Amino acid sequence: MPQDTELAQRLQAVTLRIVNAARRADRPAPALLAVGKTRDAGEIDALCALRMARGEPRPGFGENYVQEAAGKIQALAGRPIEWHLIGHLQSNKAKQAAELFDWVQTIDRPKLAAALARHRPPQHAPLNALVQVNIDDEDSKHGCRPEDVPALAATIAAESGLALRGLMAIPAPHPDPERRRAAFARMRALFGALAATHSGVDTLSMGMSDDLEQAVAEGATLVRVGTALFGPRGNGRTR
Ligand SMILES: *Cc1c(COP(=O)(O)O)cnc(C)c1O
Repeated sequence: MPQDTELAQRLQAVTLRIVNAARRADRPAPALLAVGKTRDAGEIDALCALRMARGEPRPGFGENYVQEAAGKIQALAGRPIEWHLIGHLQSNKAKQAAELFDWVQTIDRPKLAAALARHRPPQHAPLNALVQVNIDDEDSKHGCRPEDVPALAATIAAESGLALRGLMAIPAPHPDPERRRAAFARMRALFGALAATHSGVDTLSMGMSDDLEQAVAEGATLVRVGTALFGPRGNGRTR
């Protein structure tokens, strides 16, 4: 089967999963962030074209590494893509990230928020900012503690170079989806409290290829999907 037909079918399948999950939960369908890590600019371009043909004026794409993203963003400068950084960000890459991306979803400490704000070019709109939460209290994981969300959110809201938009989480990959659902429910509570105290908070980023249904049921407004759109990573694809 031609590769673009496969891509179109995967996009259709993911769209249906999202729409059906939202319908079951009686919630508005969340936006789709296509995760392009390890995919080349040509693959992203093909998916972008399909999404635009389906009526999305500004398709969202997520990248994990600033360096890897830089080349793709440059190669796809003619596309109206909204670029999200979804990988851990070291402070020494904050300048490059603030110049390249429309969103950074992985702000987990005040120092990083300040560095991004300082380096956001003044001619650009404020950088859309999500606080990454370590919702399962994993020692090895990035993200701030749930109890630190209010203070970090206040720091972000006070920066003119940043626009506080909400929260992001990557729950522990527990094999039982109901255990992940509990983490998503805790995120929903944190998000509700944040939205009640800050205007402009409208984005809860959670759910991936294998648990987007659970995330949507708990109120995700943005799901981050890689494998289910592009196919398995590192599968020896031919282009
Ligand atoms: C890779 C990645 C995703 C997408 O994961 P899939 O299982 O391929 O859908 C989502 N969010 C983050 C932060 C990722 O690193």
